[in-house]
This record gives sequence, structure tokens and C-alpha cells, in this order.
Amino acid sequence: MNQNDIYLLFLQRFMAVLMKDKLGHQVFTVISDIASELGQDTYVIGGFVRDLFLNRPSVDIDVVTIGSGIKLAEEVAKRINPKIKVSVFKNFGTAMFHFKGLEIEFVGARKESYQRNSRKPVVENGTLEDDQKRRDFTINALALSLNKPDFGALIDPFSGISDLQSKIIKTPLDPVITFSDDPLRMLRAIRFSSQLNFFIDEITLQAISVNRDRIKIVSFERISEELNKIILSKKPSLGFKLLEKTGLLEIIFPELFNLKGVETVNGIAHKDNFYHTLEVLDRLAPNSDNLWLRWSALLHDIAKPATKKFVDGQGWTFHSHNFIGGKMVPKIFRRMKLPLNEKMKFVQKMVQLHMRPIVLSEDVVTDSAVRRLLFEAGDDIDDLMTLCEADITSKNQEKVKRYMKNFSIVREKLKEIEKKDHIRNFQPPVSGELIMETFNLPQCREVGIIKNAIKEAILDGIIENNFDQAYEFMLQKANELGLKK
Ligand code: ATP
Repeated sequence: MNQNDIYLLFLQRFMAVLMKDKLGHQVFTVISDIASELGQDTYVIGGFVRDLFLNRPSVDIDVVTIGSGIKLAEEVAKRINPKIKVSVFKNFGTAMFHFKGLEIEFVGARKESYQRNSRKPVVENGTLEDDQKRRDFTINALALSLNKPDFGALIDPFSGISDLQSKIIKTPLDPVITFSDDPLRMLRAIRFSSQLNFFIDEITLQAISVNRDRIKIVSFERISEELNKIILSKKPSLGFKLLEKTGLLEIIFPELFNLKGVETVNGIAHKDNFYHTLEVLDRLAPNSDNLWLRWSALLHDIAKPATKKFVDGQGWTFHSHNFIGGKMVPKIFRRMKLPLNEKMKFVQKMVQLHMRPIVLSEDVVTDSAVRRLLFEAGDDIDDLMTLCEADITSKNQEKVKRYMKNFSIVREKLKEIEKKDHIRNFQPPVSGELIMETFNLPQCREVGIIKNAIKEAILDGIIENNFDQAYEFMLQKANELGLKK
């Protein structure tokens, strides 16, 4: 045994003592007892172990055993509490249960081989090392022993700990084959890099570019899951820049890719809307964890390429890019298999309204303009303001300061007017039914005209938002239209 081996042995022992402490949860003791009774070597593996070393809280525990994962899960659950319900997935040879906020999944160690046209591998029983080889990254291939003789010992055949320390994402085996086998791993690499602020090792990164077209065999459900995790990371631009660099973005999200580039006419250039969008998203991130507000930031200028025009005397214009952008939202959500419910409608609304506060703050902030903004944004007004504040990305600090000051005036005014007029969830104080009843009318154009006139009068501050004034105004408007009670 040379000096190096002694050092390594010492390190392993030291780690085991350290990890023993981390594996202090009752569930690990029970798994260890049962595994020993069944004579099955058993390990905790993957993301949970990675996160243990990174001190990130994790509630998903993956347990791999040399033998039947289902049998082990059932026996462990029975010992902890016979009432625990174990979900068994016979086809996959896995079983899982929930216990005290943890989700614990059991699987027999396996060996995998892939066919070209599918992400689904052919699976056979294997050793712990076979199982570690099928993992996507070295940092995700770490295992801790749950076996009695060396409980807590780290099994790290691919130097995952060293990569954790150097903050590197790297595949255990040849990255070209790893990514070709399961192209979702390319997105996972970029997602982990963005989430953990890790580098992707150069050869691994090149292998993503080489395999980029393979992403086409991955379903959009899975792609969006990873995109959402990138969007929710601390600095999402890291992930999106990697998606762009590797050529994946162009394939999975062409609308976002099309924002890239700068055109110059008569010496006048417009800004690169891809990098601007990423800056907005990064600026929004510390202020909101709302996934859908973050999606709104990503899509707020999505129609700029479609509406771009150079107009002599005006320079670059992007007329109605907010409205056209709003129309693009459902199409993008449908393709990406994102929800088509109120979440999509929220994003659409944010995209459509994202210019309003800035236009408002450039001018004298009138009560009537604020009332109209409140009416249209409703309860989402605070989110809209947060988005608009993130949208100020000018390099000119004076300009940024001026806008931010104007925004704070708008925010104050919004509070003031809402307190006074309750416009946020505006319901017309006089209903269409009452108009029909009062003038003995069927459903007709005149009812709409009167209703709209009342709404406009309230928003313009001509009358207050209450029944008496609205009723009076209705009589007046009806009179103008020649209607009798
Ligand atoms: P997160 O919980 O943030 O998604 P995770 O690494 O725990 O991260 P899971 O999807 O729960 O992700 O996967 C658990 C483990 O399974 C991973 O750590 C990895 O070892 C392995 N794994 C997951 N997906 C793949 C894949 N596509 N290819 C290879 N191994 C994978």
C-alpha cells in the first residue's frame, strides 16, 4: 500500500463516518436492517446523494438493491408502518412509498442497452457498477452503502465527488453515446448547469452539439419539464445561452431563437432581443418565483421579429408586438404541451399589457390612465409592474433611475386609486339586465352602448364607481338615445 492508497482509504473512512451522520433518518436504518435480512446489498443513489453533498434539501430518495426492489420496498414499508401504501410498478420493477414527507423509490440494480429510435432501453439485471454506468452524469452516479459492514461508505467509480467540487457536469461514459442513447440527457445537462451554476465539461458540451438533432425523439412534455426548471433557476440566462450555443434552442424553441441578432440600417441598429429577453428574465428572477411570470418575461418580446420595420425618420419600430405576441402565446403553449388554462391566459395578458406601465410612466400619470390599467390588469397588476420593472435594461443608469422613479409613482397612484375606486375587479354597478328591464328592451345594441358608456365614464373619472351615479348616468345616456322608461 503506497502513500496515496493510505490517504484514499483514510478519506473513504472519514466520508463514511460523515455520511453515517447524514443518513441518520430512521428510514435508512430500517432499509439497512431489511436488506441485511434479505441478503441483498443495497445503496442510496443518484440525486439524493448529490444533494446531500451540496447541502441542498431533497425529499426524493432512490434506493437501488442487488435483487428485487419491489420485495425490499414492501418489507421496509411493513416494518415502518403496515398502513403505508406501497405503489408497485411491475413493468419497471420499481416500487415506492411516501413516509414523513419523503418519497422513497426502490429498484433492482440494472444494466441498460439502447436502440436508435427510442429513449426506452432494453433492461436486464445488473451489478451496482452497471447501475452507476447507466446514470447520466458523474455527480448523479454517487452511491452510499446501506449495508451493515460499511454503512455510509461512498461508492464513486467515476470521480463524481471531485466533479462536484470542481462544479463540473460530465457523463460517466462516452458523452456522444450517452446523449445519443437518451437525448433528454442533453437538456438535463444544461438544466443542472443552470440550476447548480456548474460548467459543462468541454467534451460533454461538444457531444451535445453533435447530437442536437436527436432531441427530436424526446416528447415536448419532457422538454418543457426541463425548460421550466431552467426558467426557475437563479440565473436562467445561463441555461438559455447554453441551449443557444449547442444548437438545441433553434430546434425546440425557434421563436425564441429568432429573437437573436442585430440589424443595422442607415447606421441605426436595434438591440439584440434574445439577450435583452434573457436580461429581463434574470432581472425578474430575484423578485419572483412565479413560473408563469417568468414565462411572461421570456415571451414578452416574442413578436418583435414578426413586427420589425425600419421607418425613415423613426428608426426601428415593432408596432403591436405586444398584441401579436399575445396571439403567439397559445400556439407556443400548445406545441410545448404547457397548460392551456388560466396560466396560459395569464402569460398572454402579461405579454399584451407589458408596454402599458412604461407608456404611462413616460407621460404625466393621470388618474384615468391608471384606472384603465387597473381595470385591464385586475388582480395581476402587481405581477405586471414587476415584469415591467425588469424590462428596463438600458445601459444608461440615469435612464434606468428615471424609469424606476416613475414606476414607483405609478405604483403609488395605483394604490391610491384602487383604494378610492375599487377598479381592480371591476363589475359594472348597473347590469345589462337592469338596463333591459328599465327601458323594456330585448337584448340589443343599445344595451351594449349604455353599458359601455357607464364603464368608460367610470374609468375616465366622470362618475364614481357606485350604483347611484351609474344609474343616473344610465338615464342620461338613454335619454340621448331617445329611449323612454
Ligand atoms: P431533480 O430531482 O432535480 O430532477 P435528480 O437528479 O434527482 O434531480 P431525477 O429525475 O429524480 O433527477 O433522477 C434521479 C436519478 O436518476 C438521477 O440523479 C440520475 O442518477 C438518474 N437519472 C434520471 N434521469 C436520467 C436519464 N435520463 N439518464 C440517466 N440517468 C438518469
